[in-house]
Amino acid sequence: MLDNYNRRLNYLRISVTDRCNLRCSYCMPEEGIKMLSHSDILTFEEIIDVVMEAVNLGVDKVRITGGEPLVRKGILNLVEMLAAVDGIKDLSMTTNGILLSEFANDLKAKGINRINISLDTLDPEKFSTMTRGGDIEMVKKGILAAREAGIHPIKINCVIDKSKEETDALQVKDYCDANGLNIRYIHKMDLKTGHFAIVEGGDGGDCKNCNRLRLTADGKIKPCLFNNLEFDIRNMGIKEALLAAASLKPECGSFNGNNHFHNIGG
Ligand code: SAM
Ligand code: SF4
Repeated sequence: MLDNYNRRLNYLRISVTDRCNLRCSYCMPEEGIKMLSHSDILTFEEIIDVVMEAVNLGVDKVRITGGEPLVRKGILNLVEMLAAVDGIKDLSMTTNGILLSEFANDLKAKGINRINISLDTLDPEKFSTMTRGGDIEMVKKGILAAREAGIHPIKINCVIDKSKEETDALQVKDYCDANGLNIRYIHKMDLKTGHFAIVEGGDGGDCKNCNRLRLTADGKIKPCLFNNLEFDIRNMGIKEALLAAASLKPECGSFNGNNHFHNIGG
């Protein structure tokens, strides 16, 4: 699938749930969010139908995200179903790592090649404050379990305020170096103001080379994180929604007044 700016769209990021077991301050309000109702959330079969159509149109790379993907009931079945779709060369996941020690072996066995785990600080108190109650030890256990399971590479997503020289970022970098992990810095973003930036060591925020489409947990195809456009697969049909998103993908993002990271998956 080529868009109007000659970008080849081969990467689909799928948010499988709007729910999360953390409440990171830059992502979700403290009181949580108004949850989607069960019937709004795509079934696994619907997700697979979207992926098969996307593969027909040239997608070969899929990332599972959320909310927190590991809280979606039956997530291992979905991983297995996705891994079985012919034409997907790369199946990955982004997780906060809280439940990873429990899931790592099965994720690997069912077909996850690569994983991104979010970690912005190594200070247990700060982690707990930033995530509003998270236990950093569970994330560290999850990271080591993923490594033991042979998931490779493991990338650590580290959200920074302004610079990768910030103390927290430097400590996370040292931890990554000591444990054979890659680090990927993400500038803290505000979707509403359209404050976004190139991701160092990653491939986001680089509009000229953006190859992404997103599928929200409730079935909307979004061509750009920093734009309100979305196309409902249930109303329009899957192929139509994918093609509309591709043809209307903006040259560059500006702002998004409707969405937050927890419902588009970052
Ligand atoms: N719950 C999973 C996690 O935290 O990894 C997956 C979903 S989360 C929305 C995906 C990524 O978005 C995480 O790495 C998170 O740090 C990042 N993120 C969330 N809010 C952000 C913001 N305001 N600015 C930059 N990155 C953000
Ligand atoms: Fe949950 Fe991930 Fe958002 Fe944190 S960044 S609240 S872990 S979805």
